Amino acid sequence: MISIKIILSCSIILSNFLSCSQTALPSGVKANAASNTKENPYYSRTDTTVLQVSDAEWKKVLSPDVYAIAREKGTERAFTGKYWNFTGLGTYYCVACGNALFKSDGKFASECGWPSFFETIRKTSVTYQEDNSYNMERIEVNCGRCGAHLGHLFDDGPPPTYKRYCMNSIILEFEPDTK
Ligand SMILES: [Zn+2]
Repeated sequence: MISIKIILSCSIILSNFLSCSQTALPSGVKANAASNTKENPYYSRTDTTVLQVSDAEWKKVLSPDVYAIAREKGTERAFTGKYWNFTGLGTYYCVACGNALFKSDGKFASECGWPSFFETIRKTSVTYQEDNSYNMERIEVNCGRCGAHLGHLFDDGPPPTYKRYCMNSIILEFEPDTK
C-alpha cells in the first residue's frame, strides 16, 4: 500500500513537472525570430520594395499564430501580447517582412490591452483600409511592405496626432536600440 502511494505521488510530481515545462516552451518569441531569419525569404530590414506574395506562400513561411493575424486579420486577446505594457527603447518591425513600423518614442501607455502608438516611423510604413466587419466602422492598418494586417487606427490617441494605432503584439518584432 505504501509503495502504491509513493508511485502515485511520484507520477503526480512528474506530470506536474512535464506540464510546467510544456507551458514554458511555446513562448513563440524565439521560434518566430528563427523562422524569419532562416526560412522566410521575404524578410528584410533594408529592402522596402512592396511585396506581392500569395497567402498560400505566406502560409509556408509564417508561424500559424503570425499567419492568423497577418493574413486572416485575427486579433490577439487583450492583455495577452508581449508588448501591450512593454516600455523598452527601440524599434518595432513587421515580424512577417522586417518593415520598420514604429519607434518606442511613438508608443504610449494605453489601458486597452494592446500595444498602442500615436505615430508610425514613416508615412509609408503602413497602409489604411476601411473595415466594416462586426458592424463597426473602423480603419484597418496594414504593413506598407507586405500588406500584413497589423491592427486598427482610432481617433482617441494622445497629442500631437491624437491617433491610436492599436496593434497586435504577435505581428510586431522589437529590436532594442544599441547604446
Ligand atoms: Zn510586413
